Amino acid sequence: MNTNLKNLTIKNFREGLTEKKFSAFEITEEYFKYIEKKDPETNAYLLLLKEPALKQASEADVKAAKGEKLAPLTGIPLAIKDNILIENEITTSASKILENYKASYDATVIKKLKNEDALFLGKTNMDEFAMGSSTENSAFKKTKNPHDLSRVPGGSSGGSAAAVAADMAVAALGSDTGGSIRQPASFCGVVGLKPTYGAVSRYGLMAMASSLDQIGPITKTVEDAEILFNAIKGFDSMDATSAQLQTTGYKQKKPEELVVGLPKEYFIEGLDNQTSKAINEAIESLKKSGIKFKEISLPYTKYALSCYYIIMPAEVSANLTRFDGIRYARIASRGSQTESLKEIYFRQRGEGFGPEVKRRIILGTFVLSSGYYDAYYAKAQKVRKLIKEDFDKAFDSSENGVDVILTPVSPTPAFHFNEKTDDPLKMYLSDIFTIPVNLAGLPAISIPTRPMESPPVGFQLIGKHFRENDILEIGKLYERINNITQ
Ligand code: GLN
Repeated sequence: MNTNLKNLTIKNFREGLTEKKFSAFEITEEYFKYIEKKDPETNAYLLLLKEPALKQASEADVKAAKGEKLAPLTGIPLAIKDNILIENEITTSASKILENYKASYDATVIKKLKNEDALFLGKTNMDEFAMGSSTENSAFKKTKNPHDLSRVPGGSSGGSAAAVAADMAVAALGSDTGGSIRQPASFCGVVGLKPTYGAVSRYGLMAMASSLDQIGPITKTVEDAEILFNAIKGFDSMDATSAQLQTTGYKQKKPEELVVGLPKEYFIEGLDNQTSKAINEAIESLKKSGIKFKEISLPYTKYALSCYYIIMPAEVSANLTRFDGIRYARIASRGSQTESLKEIYFRQRGEGFGPEVKRRIILGTFVLSSGYYDAYYAKAQKVRKLIKEDFDKAFDSSENGVDVILTPVSPTPAFHFNEKTDDPLKMYLSDIFTIPVNLAGLPAISIPTRPMESPPVGFQLIGKHFRENDILEIGKLYERINNITQ
C-alpha cells in the first residue's frame, strides 16, 4: 500500500477505510514514518504519541472489520495543539514552566474525539501559552512554514497549521484568542475555523484569556473543518460559558442567497499587494457564482487592537497566577532548603516564563491595579461593547443586513524569522484583522485563496453568532468553484 498522504482528507480517509482500501493502522504507521523523515526540518511536533496512536488505530480497524457502525472520525489521525490536555500525556503549552507537566484528565474536546475513535499523532508546537503570532515564542523550537522554510508558520497554533500543511496529520486542533487558528492557517495555506465563543467547550484548554479563547479545527478543506467542528461542538456542564448551538427558528440560506459585507476599514492602503490582489480575485469568483457583495463600515475597528491589549493581558495575568512553582512544579530546577515562598515564586516564574509571557503578565497586572482599573480595564470593556455593536449593526436586517463579512486574515503573507521579534508592537499589528472577531465572540474561518499563492494568502469569512453554517456554506462553494472538493 502506498497511500498518498497529500490527498488524505477526513472525507476520503473515511471512504478508504469503509471501502477497505487501507487500514487505520497502515495509515498511522505511514504518518509516523513520514513525520520522522519530514519533521526534523519543519519542527511542527513537540511530542509524538506513537504507541497510543497505533493502539487506537488497531482498535478502529477491529471495529471496521466487524462491520460495526463507524463514527465520522473513526481512525482519523489528528494533531493536537500542546495547550489542550490529553490524560497522562505531557502538556507544556510550549513553556519551560510546564516542561514536566502530565495532564491528569482529558479536555472535553479530546473526550469527544476519543468517543468517535479518532486518534492523536502528537502534540504540536505553539507560542508559549498561545501568546504570539509566529510560534517564535515557543520555549522549545522554531516551527518552519512548510511552503517556505525561511518563513514563520504564523501563530500561535503554528505547529498545528504546519503539521496539516506538510501532510503530517489529516487535520488538527488549535486555539484562537486573537487569531491563533486563522492566521497560521492563512500563512500555511490550510483552513482554520474559530467557532462562536461558547460553541466549543474550553474545559481542559489551558486558559490564556478566558473571555476570548476558543478551540477549533485546522484542516485541508472547509468540508473537513465542518466535520471536525461538528464532532467537538456542544454544551458542556464543565464550562460555564459553553452553549448549545441555537439553530431553531432559522432556515439555512443557500450560499447564493447570502449577502456578504466588505468592511472598508479592512481594505486599507497598508495591505500587502499580493494579499489584496488574491483576495479581490476570490471576491470576483464568488460574485460570478451569484453571491452579492455590499460595502459596509465597522468604524470602531481602529480601537480593537488597543482594546485587546488591555483585556487580554488582564485575563492572562489572572489565569497564569496558578503557575506559582509549587503546583505544576518544575523538576528541572530546585531551590535551596531555606527558600522563602516569595523566593520560590521569583525563581520559578523568573526561570519558567519567557519574555513575552512576562511582558503580558506585567501589563495585565498594571491595568488591573487600583487607581488604573477604571482608566484602562473598565474603559476597554466599554470599547469592546462598541466593537461588538459595529458587527450587530452590520448584521441587523433593519440596517445593513449582511449575512457574512469577508476580510483579509492578515495584512501580509507569512513573514521571515526574526522580522518582528525585536518590536512587539509590529508583531501585535499583524493580528489587526482577526482580533475584532474574538472581542465580539463571532465565528470566523480562514480559507486559502486559489490557485494557492506562494507564500499562501487566506481570506476570512465572519458570521453571525452560532451561524457557523453560513460561513461554511460560502467556503464550500468557493472550494467547489476551484475544484478542491465536489
Ligand atoms: N497573536 C495574538 C496574540 O499574541 C493572538 C494569540 C491567540 O489567538 N492565542 O495574542
